[in-house]
Amino acid sequence: MDIYKKSITELSELLNKKILSSVEMANYFIKRINSFDSKLNSFITVDEEHSKKQALYADSLIAKKQNTFLTGIPIAHKDLFSTKNILTTCGSKMLENYIPPFDATIVCKLNNAGMVTIGKTNMDEFAMGSSSESSYFGSVQNPWNIVKVPGGSSGGSASAVAARLTPVATGSDTGGSIRQPASFCGLTGLKPTYGSVSRYGMIAYASSLDQCGPIAKNAEDCALIFDEIKGYDHNDITSNHEVKQEKINLQISKDEVKKITIGIPKEYFSKDLDKNISDVIFQAVEIFKKLGFKFQEISLPQHNLTIPAYYIIASAEASSNLSRYDGIKFGHRCNNPKNLEDLYLRTRKEGFGREVKKRIMIGAYALSAGYYDEYYMRALKIRRLIRDNFISAFDKVDYIFAPTSPSTAFNIGEKTSNALEMYLSDIYTTPVNLAGLPAASIPVGFNDSLPVGMQIIGNYFSEEKILQIANIFQKETDWHLKIPKEFDNE
Ligand code: GLN
Repeated sequence: MDIYKKSITELSELLNKKILSSVEMANYFIKRINSFDSKLNSFITVDEEHSKKQALYADSLIAKKQNTFLTGIPIAHKDLFSTKNILTTCGSKMLENYIPPFDATIVCKLNNAGMVTIGKTNMDEFAMGSSSESSYFGSVQNPWNIVKVPGGSSGGSASAVAARLTPVATGSDTGGSIRQPASFCGLTGLKPTYGSVSRYGMIAYASSLDQCGPIAKNAEDCALIFDEIKGYDHNDITSNHEVKQEKINLQISKDEVKKITIGIPKEYFSKDLDKNISDVIFQAVEIFKKLGFKFQEISLPQHNLTIPAYYIIASAEASSNLSRYDGIKFGHRCNNPKNLEDLYLRTRKEGFGREVKKRIMIGAYALSAGYYDEYYMRALKIRRLIRDNFISAFDKVDYIFAPTSPSTAFNIGEKTSNALEMYLSDIYTTPVNLAGLPAASIPVGFNDSLPVGMQIIGNYFSEEKILQIANIFQKETDWHLKIPKEFDNE
């Protein structure tokens, strides 16, 4: 039946027609995890008993016809979403044994819709990274080529969906962690407008940038998950009332398409971008032109300031957010501390990995008296300029196309010793977070047998249109249907 290939809509049909029960569907995907994940390390936790309980409940809802469209569909959550009674590690030794007493809002909403959590996915420690190599639980492999990284920090979620070990997964995106792994793994990922999805129960990295969203096979599945998780939440003071409550309609008429102008930022397609990647993107642009979209070159002049500003702001917020891991409130605690200072020092030394410690130090430095104005305040000013660049661009064009990453998936170990090179891989994704805008990454082709992703960036709260644009392209092409060979069997 090739169940692993099916979209959420197709799986839902199997459940509703009683061709398969939710319990059978959960077992099917858990069996795939058991047979394939030793090659990928994409899961940290698979809780069969919990999944079975949820699946039985989903079956009872279907039997009583009280089901939603998502009832009984398996999902994997990035391991930074708090899941009640299920281990939530954030990829860190610090939280190696942390079992939250509550569910994150998005987990709660998806549970209420009847979805079945089949596991928690591996990730860069505290979501800091672009390769999923900084996890305390070992690096994740890319199903397209297991010597390559799957991207990060939501690399476990992307790797698992790409290998079809789960139909869909959640991710978080502070500077690209949904879009970049989606692009490295040939998937569709949506980073919503800042504030349109609640961050409550999502372990914080950089609170003014963090936003969660789906990593899926196609735009349609992203829309179904986004519809369920979006909306105001009184538990998150930054969640926004402006999010449209109506369900997303993916249909877009030819007339509407003709009215859409898409901007191509000239700074993004400079010599810094691998020529093969820009070729693949421009082939996709040709398809969009045939569909009736108009294109125009635009400029985002402060592009070159993005990475320094992002890494100062993200590290500053991280140093503050991670101060809670002190060996007292929760998480790891060192053995036999001599005094309070020893407790703090050894707990944090033992509990955090290298990358996390580095960010805390950069952040604390940037926030310290004497350096605050020079680093943190200046980074905030750049952030405003970057946002203003986008606002002026949206006066001229409706949407912006951009590469997701300057390269395709790189080798495991290739960039671990060169932090700057690793940080530069976020050059096209971080501006979107600094501005708080929504963007999706969609697969648009291959280079050297590895997937290439392209971003569709929109103005605030334009998720519906972004997904319509992604969907119309996916009706014309089949990049999103490609499956890595080794995992393309039952
Ligand atoms: N790679 C970026 C960082 O390390 C983005 C990570 C993310 O989006 N969580 O900060």
